[in-house]
Amino acid sequence: MTFLGLVIIVVDDRNISTDGFKVNTQSHLAPLLATAIKAELNKETAKNGYTEDGNTKERKDSAYKKHHPILLQLLADEAGCEPEDIHDFELQTCDTQPSTIAGAMKEFIFSGRLDNLCMSFCSLKALIDSTASETSLEDETGVRMVALYDHEEVGSNSAQGAGSPVTLDALSRITSAFGEDSKLLQKAIQKSFLVSADMAHALHPNYTDRHEENHQPKMHCGLAIKHNANQRYATNAVTSFLFKEIATKHDIPVQDFVVRNDMGCGSTIGPILASGVGIRTVDIGAPQLSMHSIREMCAVDDVKYSYDHFKAFYEEFSHLDAKLIVDI
Ligand SMILES: [Zn+2]
Repeated sequence: MTFLGLVIIVVDDRNISTDGFKVNTQSHLAPLLATAIKAELNKETAKNGYTEDGNTKERKDSAYKKHHPILLQLLADEAGCEPEDIHDFELQTCDTQPSTIAGAMKEFIFSGRLDNLCMSFCSLKALIDSTASETSLEDETGVRMVALYDHEEVGSNSAQGAGSPVTLDALSRITSAFGEDSKLLQKAIQKSFLVSADMAHALHPNYTDRHEENHQPKMHCGLAIKHNANQRYATNAVTSFLFKEIATKHDIPVQDFVVRNDMGCGSTIGPILASGVGIRTVDIGAPQLSMHSIREMCAVDDVKYSYDHFKAFYEEFSHLDAKLIVDI
């Protein structure tokens, strides 16, 4: 979709370099659709919203009463329908500039929404490629899956978010295809493993004090395994070991992340799914800078490391897990 939305932040403050800029999410983030003058000159652009003499047509649809005809015409053009066909919609503005590879050594990716499209891309491609050859599933004893959820950034509590029954329902339907055993789902869950992949905050050269001294995820150093004793991340010693073991075998770099004791810790869908489904989980993510800004930044190398790590994990987890002996 090529909808042209523009988000403007009004900055006219002489003290900004000393006092900083605090975004007011109500008044500073209003999307700009068109100027009133231009809209007046181009009434025919919104032909379906106006009558010949320029008055707004009487519409019974609620969308027509609530939204400007130019916006509705833009959306109708993109969707290939008439504006009056639109009954309602959800709309998000976003940066439409393509991602760029840059840096003196071409080592960085600048892109919108790296968090969490980067992990989504790497995991999906790894899954597809791990099953590409005719023999790739010959010795597989498990089911390889990728699950990509909506609404992680707003808490995952929605009908299709990680907090919904959708994961358990999917597992239930898949296991029911393998036989009549009424306990098959529970058995499958005990044998399963979840890699909760969400981007991680890399060490920033201007803010080195924001990271715990011995756990500073660095770009170009592979996926960071996230640990938190308060279970903001669902990693434990066993899941961390299994995930690292695959990396070690394939010479893929991997690192550990623990937040400073005096700082708040983010979270992921890892603990939500671990507690809701009862599945072993490791929380991991590729390091990046400028998370949640309109233009985020990560390292080219880490995309490759993430893909390689995920692919090897898909291919070898079942065999590795079968060999695991945990003495508690
Ligand atoms: Zn995020």
